[in-house]
Amino acid sequence: MPPTITDDKTAPALSLHGEPANFALGYHEVAHDTWAWLQPNGALGESNSGLIVSGEHALVVDSLWDLKLTQRMLDEARKIVDVAPEALVNTHSDGDHVWGNQLFSGARIISGSTAKDLMTLDMPKDLRAMRTGGKALAAIGALPVPFVGTVDVGDLPRLPLREMGREFAPFDWREIELTLPTETFDGELAVRIGDREVQLIEVGPAHTGGDTVVWVPDVNVCFAADILFIDGTPIMWAGPVKSWIAAIDRISALGAERYVPGHGPICGQKEVDLVREYFEWVQSEGVTQLARGVKPVKAARNLLLSSEFEQLPWARWDDPARLVVTLCSEQHRRDGSTGQLLGVGRSRAIASMQATKTAIARKRKRG
Ligand SMILES: [Zn+2]
Repeated sequence: MPPTITDDKTAPALSLHGEPANFALGYHEVAHDTWAWLQPNGALGESNSGLIVSGEHALVVDSLWDLKLTQRMLDEARKIVDVAPEALVNTHSDGDHVWGNQLFSGARIISGSTAKDLMTLDMPKDLRAMRTGGKALAAIGALPVPFVGTVDVGDLPRLPLREMGREFAPFDWREIELTLPTETFDGELAVRIGDREVQLIEVGPAHTGGDTVVWVPDVNVCFAADILFIDGTPIMWAGPVKSWIAAIDRISALGAERYVPGHGPICGQKEVDLVREYFEWVQSEGVTQLARGVKPVKAARNLLLSSEFEQLPWARWDDPARLVVTLCSEQHRRDGSTGQLLGVGRSRAIASMQATKTAIARKRKRG
């Protein structure tokens, strides 16, 4: 059973995955009438959202991966402003930022047009069907639980479903009906909420094919979504790496005092600069290997299993093996693809990432 978060203040607070929480679950006031809903510790599916208030008006940035998590967030929002949010922004297409959308009935739901297109690639009902058929492997990335053993469908790689099932255990996708945005935009869009204005800015492709950040200029706060993973390793499904660096430069130029990442604690420019440094490292140490003809999984393992790696600041971030997916996506772009990594390529990358995760753990255990 996944651990549950209780109100018992004597119990140590746990993350959804059962780890001691590094920061508090719930709403944090980032600036006046501007709130971040944080889910510690920012690991898989532990995504953040935002709440921007003006009088009796509220806008939410991102729903969460399932209905229970989203409902909990909405119930807490009512304690801040007792109205139904009139607008929801989906920053990108990943389920952990979208699949709670159905709880926002009557609200405007806004996303970039590319993000909306990508949302239909991961259909909750198809993923549920995988339990029996395994035919929707193209949509992997959000497997239902519980899974045991492995599946092997034709040409597709064997996936370590027992491990993946454990990672997905805290989430419940049974009641989800994919609810798509009602409005889309390309580039930038200003959205009024009461007498405030927020700016939606597409900065991708980077993490996915369509990434939007929410800039709140009256308080200098940037909801950076999955352009920023703080204390966790970023995972790149689209890229290329250079484009992610450009996205970081773009948000850095906004002049934000505080950033709310898609995963992890609220941060300032110093932490953003470190994420940029990570991608500079991926570019100089990883992408250069691809240019020499090294296969992406091998290139990632060369870095992750080296003794130098353990000295780097990001060696302590959650899930360093995500570099495998990042370099597979980079190779995908180098091979001439324009969109993000999908289908068999995506399944292969995930399988290799899981295997690399085990290899890193084994190496660290040996010391
Ligand atoms: Zn996310």
